[in-house]
Amino acid sequence: MNNILPSYVNDAWWTPADTSTAVAVRDASTGAIVANVSTAGLDLAGALDYARTVGQASLGELTFHQRALLLKEMALVLTERKRELYALSSCTGATKIDSMVDIDGGIGVLFTYSSKGRRELPNAQIYADGAVEPLSKDGSFLGRHIFTRLPGVAVQINAFNFPVWGSLEKFAPAFLAGMPTVVKPATPTGYVAEAFVRILVESGLLPAGSLQLVSGSVHDLFDHLKLGDLVAFTGSASTAEKLRSHANVQVGGVRFTSETDSINASILGTDATPDTPEFGAFIKQVVTEITVKAGQKCTAIRRVIVPNALVDSVVAAVTERIAERIVLGDPRAESVTMGPLASLEQRDEVLRQVQNLRAAGGEIVMGSTDIPVVRGLDGSVLNAAAGAFLEPMLLRFTDAQADAVHEIEAFGPVASVIGYDTVAQAVDLVRRGGGSLVTSVATHDPKLAMAFMEGIAAFNGRVLLLDRDDARSSTGHGSPVPQLVHGGPGRAGGGEELGGIRAVFHHMQRTAIQGSPDMLTAITGIWHAGAAVQHGDRHPFRKTVAELCLGDQIDSAARTITLADIEAFAHTTGDTFYAHMDEKAAAANPFFPGRVAHGYLLIAWAAGLFVDPAPGPVLANYGLENLRFITPVSPGDSIRVTLTAKQITPRETDEYGEVRWDAVLTNQKEEIVANYDVLTLVEKD
Ligand code: NDP
Repeated sequence: MNNILPSYVNDAWWTPADTSTAVAVRDASTGAIVANVSTAGLDLAGALDYARTVGQASLGELTFHQRALLLKEMALVLTERKRELYALSSCTGATKIDSMVDIDGGIGVLFTYSSKGRRELPNAQIYADGAVEPLSKDGSFLGRHIFTRLPGVAVQINAFNFPVWGSLEKFAPAFLAGMPTVVKPATPTGYVAEAFVRILVESGLLPAGSLQLVSGSVHDLFDHLKLGDLVAFTGSASTAEKLRSHANVQVGGVRFTSETDSINASILGTDATPDTPEFGAFIKQVVTEITVKAGQKCTAIRRVIVPNALVDSVVAAVTERIAERIVLGDPRAESVTMGPLASLEQRDEVLRQVQNLRAAGGEIVMGSTDIPVVRGLDGSVLNAAAGAFLEPMLLRFTDAQADAVHEIEAFGPVASVIGYDTVAQAVDLVRRGGGSLVTSVATHDPKLAMAFMEGIAAFNGRVLLLDRDDARSSTGHGSPVPQLVHGGPGRAGGGEELGGIRAVFHHMQRTAIQGSPDMLTAITGIWHAGAAVQHGDRHPFRKTVAELCLGDQIDSAARTITLADIEAFAHTTGDTFYAHMDEKAAAANPFFPGRVAHGYLLIAWAAGLFVDPAPGPVLANYGLENLRFITPVSPGDSIRVTLTAKQITPRETDEYGEVRWDAVLTNQKEEIVANYDVLTLVEKD
């Protein structure tokens, strides 16, 4: 059979020998066959083993930063060839804007994780999490948490609606964590996922075994999963439930998270009357969410919750805007602004759910369930039995309490309007969704926003506050951003594992480690107080990144503070705060014995005490972190500083690296005056 969509396993393309059970996947507008899909005979156990051995080994050789840089290169390669993806994407019913959301959105995820990985993770393979916990009085026994990558494979099962973004949103954090991926796109649009995987394979950027693709059913895959593997699922709640109940998840320790149907809401605040900018922004957002991707978005607005007095105005405004702007048709035609659903099965499923909503009291107040007459690229009428077109629909429920409106998801260009009178009622309606990915609130009243937030935040993964100030710049109700949580409680799947660096940690295990300062230093690559130090014959500032060692230390001479020093600093800087200038007032302050030195004077002096002034490998001081002033310093006290190389991070693409120094200021009684980290840029070699 021609046109069989290949899988990519064991770093090779694979197609089935037996194609008798292949499923034909069709163009959403014309019904023409785009690909045939089958995995009959595919050795999935072998693919999982390949990931756990070859994939783990190749990714394990790389640091977070090296993986992050590869993600950026992948993003650049996909950007260069994105036209190929756009062409295929239009077969799924996606308009140009829909494809941008999927393809550019997916590429954007790679860029974001690349940048976050290099900024928020060390150039190492282990991540030390949180503060050091002293566990003994003498400092010889410490504890802290570390993250190490899971030793298995990340299986990613994706929905049909976002074949590129949905995959890359999961692949990027898995890759950054060092976990190989087996991605399983949904059959109806898997050919777009195959195309981006092919581009990445051809780029030569993928470390061996780091990405495999299963184009079609994953038949017995779950039977071969084990502790150390994870599954990230997006799709229907019923499939999620079925997969979650597998013994290898229930008792075998396989990590399973899901992002499933969500009956998201958007609330119009009582202050947002038709004459306000919030009303216009709200209407625009509702129309966008009904029509972009023909409403096939897990984050789309399903419940439009508006003050009872404004229901008619909202229905009229949405109807008017849709009539003005929405042109239904083959998305390859210039003028078309809304394409078909991804498949005839999806169209029929949406129609079934709309029938269920109607049966439960929903009245169609915009659009119709009749199959629309749509013209193709050549102007001829498209076959209604081949193109999955549906009109945008708005239903109205006079009974806001009807279960159906809070429980039934018509996964297409469909939303329902319900009314409320009080904030408490609106909050209750949002909660009736049983946990959502996102709710938006259109209001310009911070008190009202807070009242809503108190009631709905715990029922949502994300809340967007829409008003006149952010309406233009808002990324939109329906757009998860890679920096923030994508997931939600309850019905939305219960996950918050996507979005931000927490998504990387989701692919790792947090372990508490306890041991001596030397052991913790060896394991984390971060010098811990109490670990070995070296006082060499060279000042540490004379050493390059390649020459520096953790624990390289310098102890400064002591310097005594006088009242004249404090006054001079006060006058030079203008900081004549009474604690430094007024003996009586300072003494009355519970924290000070009398006039004390400025904290900033102390750290400025500390720099003078530890610095080695001549030009050398240290290029710049780019900041301090974790600065605490602990003991006040009075005239007559003396201070000295101990500076220790704490963390040494060579940068992959620069001629310099970052060195974090542990700085401790003490007084003549050995009391700690201040401590902090000094951050410097140092030549690599
Ligand atoms: P499904 O749950 O049927 O499919 C989702 C993914 O799971 C697909 O990749 C599918 O593959 C796969 N899958 C299905 N059965 C199994 C199984 N037994 N073992 C392993 N993988 C399996 O959802 P659909 O994509 O068909 O969408 C149905 C509904 O889900 C929509 O109408 C909508 O309500 C909801 N949905 C929610 C989304 C969200 O992001 N929250 C996104 C998309 C849909 P295959 O395609 O090969 O069967």
